[in-house]
Amino acid sequence: MSEATAEVVICGAGIGGVAAAYHLSVRRGIGSVVLVDERSPLTLTSDKSAECYRNWWPGPGDAMVALMNRSIDLLEELGRESGNVFRMNRRGYLFATAQPDQAGRYLRAAEEAAALGAGPVRLHRSPGDDYRPAPADGYDGQPVGTDVITDRSLIRRHFPYLAEETVALLHARRCGWFSGQQLGMYMLERAREKGVRLIEGRVERVETPGGRVAAVKVSGRDGTRVIATPRFVNAAGPFVRDVGRLLGVDLPVFCERHSKVAFNDTLGVVPRHAPMMIWTDPVRLPWSDDERAELAESNALRHLLEELPAGVHGRPEGGGDSPVMLGVWTYETSPVEPRFPVEFDPAHAEIVLRGLSRLLPGLTAYLSRLPKCFVDGGYYTKTRENRFLSGPLPVEGAYILGGLSGYGLMSSNGAADLLADYIAERSLPHYAPAFRLDRYDDPAYQTLLDNWGDSGQL
Ligand SMILES: Cc1cc2nc3c(=O)[nH]c(=O)nc-3n(C[C@H](O)[C@H](O)[C@H](O)COP(=O)(O)OP(=O)(O)OC[C@H]3O[C@@H](n4cnc5c(N)ncnc54)[C@H](O)[C@@H]3O)c2cc1C
Repeated sequence: MSEATAEVVICGAGIGGVAAAYHLSVRRGIGSVVLVDERSPLTLTSDKSAECYRNWWPGPGDAMVALMNRSIDLLEELGRESGNVFRMNRRGYLFATAQPDQAGRYLRAAEEAAALGAGPVRLHRSPGDDYRPAPADGYDGQPVGTDVITDRSLIRRHFPYLAEETVALLHARRCGWFSGQQLGMYMLERAREKGVRLIEGRVERVETPGGRVAAVKVSGRDGTRVIATPRFVNAAGPFVRDVGRLLGVDLPVFCERHSKVAFNDTLGVVPRHAPMMIWTDPVRLPWSDDERAELAESNALRHLLEELPAGVHGRPEGGGDSPVMLGVWTYETSPVEPRFPVEFDPAHAEIVLRGLSRLLPGLTAYLSRLPKCFVDGGYYTKTRENRFLSGPLPVEGAYILGGLSGYGLMSSNGAADLLADYIAERSLPHYAPAFRLDRYDDPAYQTLLDNWGDSGQL
């Protein structure tokens, strides 16, 4: 095909668009794919992530777990063929609680996850039980499923750096992290070798005469070009709704602002081999009496004396001698309009560090004189029930890969593999209907939505 034509045009070279280009070109053999982005690839949201992955997801149904297992299978394949250039590990997600009644909840959650396909449950309730900790690197030969540990001596033996009051742990095993940037660049390079063209520019218009995609208008530094194409994929991340409007489709998504905090753990409070750690109890931040009195006086800050929501989490970042520790805590999730550059609450780093010190008490050593913290982040683009969109749109030849929320790196391969099945007209996996836009047209699904439980967001 000539410069001015393509079999597929993808709007957005974040991890979603890059994975779509990779799966279409490398794994489905589609010859002429054009990836359009007004920014450098992977620089809007996809390089702001905490880069973690998990097959630990709630129902209803097994769609999320099945999709995520497929996505992780694909990540592992990519890891093997590339010599693990994106340094994927399998350290797991370690959920921790100091509330004795949570232990039973952990066990029930592990059993539910097993029923959904996340892998078997192993309960460790005496000191001699054969709990197997995760290695720092690699992912081969590791257990799947969940270890639930309720013996406190076993907890102290393996995780002496966690709060002493910890009474139960849930270690979800098919989980860990990797370098999202390396993964994205690896897929982009393989896709370009198969002829994918990356064009810098902004998708301004999609021509849809007679209700079917015919051409995409892109404006860039060199002027405007029109690419004739029968297929268009909207992978515009936080702007997926705006790009949907170019097709006359109102997409049911919204954005939440999320951030992560990085600081140097120069005292070595958290061992470099530690897993991802999540405190599942609500937290009251530690303050001195003076600080407490000062906060009580301030209308804007008094809420920091109240209990804050559960879910503060963190992990060591970087290999070798890196001292970096990451912390994430989502205590504010109102929908917002995506605006760049993203602005963050100046108090955020301190709040996260104080919250993390509940889980990792050694971090209190940093509270009297805060280390230099680096805060960055972006937007989770979400559907109401926090399940992404991958599949056809109600304009012939138009597709979406969006709403990847806070799990777009881990799900991108599964979501793009699914999208590529639609475009290459292959048979679809059983979980496909759970991610189509037209699920919202089903009255039974609307009823399910009204009674939806856990969205799976940490
Ligand atoms: C703080 C934080 C922590 C996170 N942690 C994790 C994690 O641990 N694990 C995980 O899996 N995920 C995580 N995520 C989520 C993950 O980063 C996102 O789901 C993912 O990056 C979304 O990718 P995307 O390709 O949909 O969007 P983006 O990366 O935003 O890419 C969209 C692209 O579309 C382009 N675009 C938009 N409109 C146009 C247009 N009209 N013309 C041309 N180009 C256009 C933009 O320039 C952009 O490059 C986290 C996110 C945040 C913010």
